[in-house]
Amino acid sequence: MTVEIELKSRVASRPEHPNSWVFYDGEVVRYHDAHIGIATHALHYGTACFEGIRAYWNETQEQLFLLHCPAHYDRLRNSGKILRMELPYSTAELLDITLDLLRRNDYRTDAYVRPLLYKSVEQIGVQLHGLADGFLIYTAAMGNYVEIEAGIRCMVSSWRRISDSALPARAKASGGYVNSALAKSEALEAGFDEAIVLTADGHVSEGSAENLFLYKDGVWVTPPVTDDILEGITRRLVINMIRDELGVPVVERSIDRTELYTCEELLLCGTGAQISPVIEVDHRRVGNGEVGEFSQEIQALYFDAVRGETSKYRDWTIPVY
Ligand code: PMP
Repeated sequence: MTVEIELKSRVASRPEHPNSWVFYDGEVVRYHDAHIGIATHALHYGTACFEGIRAYWNETQEQLFLLHCPAHYDRLRNSGKILRMELPYSTAELLDITLDLLRRNDYRTDAYVRPLLYKSVEQIGVQLHGLADGFLIYTAAMGNYVEIEAGIRCMVSSWRRISDSALPARAKASGGYVNSALAKSEALEAGFDEAIVLTADGHVSEGSAENLFLYKDGVWVTPPVTDDILEGITRRLVINMIRDELGVPVVERSIDRTELYTCEELLLCGTGAQISPVIEVDHRRVGNGEVGEFSQEIQALYFDAVRGETSKYRDWTIPVY
């Protein structure tokens, strides 16, 4: 069991190269030259917000495609607003910095970009206002974050999702990821692949780091943004793709736990998770227990689009080289 858990957690991204270029404190420096003091506010109190952005390597075109980068920086700006932090650059400037980092680091594989806006002051005391902010971006090579082909097995977590009135999920706050980590570890240690968390009032919210969609009776359903989800960028793309490409309606409404047991198809999606079909929840098979046809179709459409293969979705991506 221990070995299996270690293997699963190892697929996550890590800065594999201490020599890689990062953006720190307004400058481009080597990863090993960027240091954060041990008293940093964000480290102790979770007072930070971040983004996860992917870039996809297209082997045939020998091109790296950066996915929806401006939308991520726009969301980071809003997260900062909630947490009383200001992003010190325009979205256009952030895009330029990101492209520069990816080029310097010369990725010829799928890559991940992690911007972090954080309370950089080194002092004790819990508050948000009037404290200095820091900003950094690092990048790493990244493959699949969760299994995407065979389908995954999920459990409904015993941990409830943090509510907007306690720690807003839409702020993508670092401290909020303790909630995700509690749920994810519980799921992995119980032998599942991923956790699905419910809102405090018992409705389906999302995965530990993914939004959720289910299909039943000719309609795809996803929880509304008011059910304590992160307003996912992939979620928005998937909603449009299901409507435009599959011609199937998508409804945003609250979902009961037991709908997870009776739906025909179920999938999790996110920048990291991509499109990850779910084949089992709480020991109940989803549909016939195999990856559903719609889910396969959505996955195929998504991967063509993110690798810059679909002219209609070219505006999703920005070529890096
Ligand atoms: N929910 C949570 C809690 C997440 O961490 C993520 C990943 N950022 C998502 C949903 C999916 O969001 P996105 O599609 O913007 O990556």
